[in-house]
Amino acid sequence: MSQDLISVVIPVFNEQDNISPLINRLLPILNHYDFELILVDDGSKDNTASEIRKHAEVNKNIKLLSFNRNFGHQIALTAGHRSAKGACVISMDADLQDPPEVIPEMIAKWKNGAKVVYAKRKKRDVDSIFKKKTAEMFYRFINSLSDTVIPENVGDFRLIDREVVDYLNNLPEHSPFLRGLVAWSGYKEDFVYFDRQERHSGKTHYSVSKMFNFALDGITSFSIKPLRVATYMGFGAASFGFLGILYAIIGKFISPATFIIGWTGLFVGIMFIGGVQLITIGIIGEYISKIYIEVLRRPHYIVKEKVNIES
Ligand code: UDP
Ligand code: MG
Repeated sequence: MSQDLISVVIPVFNEQDNISPLINRLLPILNHYDFELILVDDGSKDNTASEIRKHAEVNKNIKLLSFNRNFGHQIALTAGHRSAKGACVISMDADLQDPPEVIPEMIAKWKNGAKVVYAKRKKRDVDSIFKKKTAEMFYRFINSLSDTVIPENVGDFRLIDREVVDYLNNLPEHSPFLRGLVAWSGYKEDFVYFDRQERHSGKTHYSVSKMFNFALDGITSFSIKPLRVATYMGFGAASFGFLGILYAIIGKFISPATFIIGWTGLFVGIMFIGGVQLITIGIIGEYISKIYIEVLRRPHYIVKEKVNIES
């Protein structure tokens, strides 16, 4: 680790047309510092890796870490954190949605004593209404479920101090929800503000289903309240069920002749209990799958190639 070194970590997945524009915009800023730029190629199928290699050949501060296959954005960031040697690590997107121009401001806040500097979006103009609303709902939901408050309108564009990097690197988690883990750690935080730009080229890798999976990962990583809710739903359904049993037995005794009627009640009851059971099993399944992934203890990722990275 070097005292003045600034590490910038960027996960890239099929971003061939963004590599040169990104590096060309970053270099004039980073050249003011002692820096390393680590691009983690998350199993791209296009020419992303060769584009990076071209730059890495002429500039030793530009480094490439390539995965065998796509392991996901959060894992690529994790690999970047593990390779970084800097006194702080800045993580950002490869598509220039996160403007490199705010980096000096982040570094200034860090030098002022903040251990975590988040870049916060002023407004979400470039996001669709759907993404805005779902993001808002997600943060409200996750922040109400867990004791860890994750700041809103903050993505993975942030600076973290070496202390925070070491804490993250020592975590054994296989599906790290980094923004939650950083917030959870409680290190002194600060914010810089920026306008989120349109993607330079290509389109988002976060489809609606990926977004929901990411959200679900976030929730199950930071709260066990859904399990408790499942328990309460079970109690609720059981109470209704008990009332139904009383109604059925007493009714049978009071007016046995007319008591065949009741298909509606039966149907509603079955549907209700069935629904509650499925939801509950689903919730339990989510947590069991997390345990399963953790106990397998597989490596987080497999590295295919390293350029300008020693260890
Ligand atoms: N990314 C990655 N692996 C993936 C998906 C995305 O490394 O499986 C990278 C991607 O190249 C980009 C960053 O993670 O640099 C954020 O992805 P994207 O821009 O698609 O997400 P959005 O900004 O739309 O939320
Ligand atoms: Mg993006």
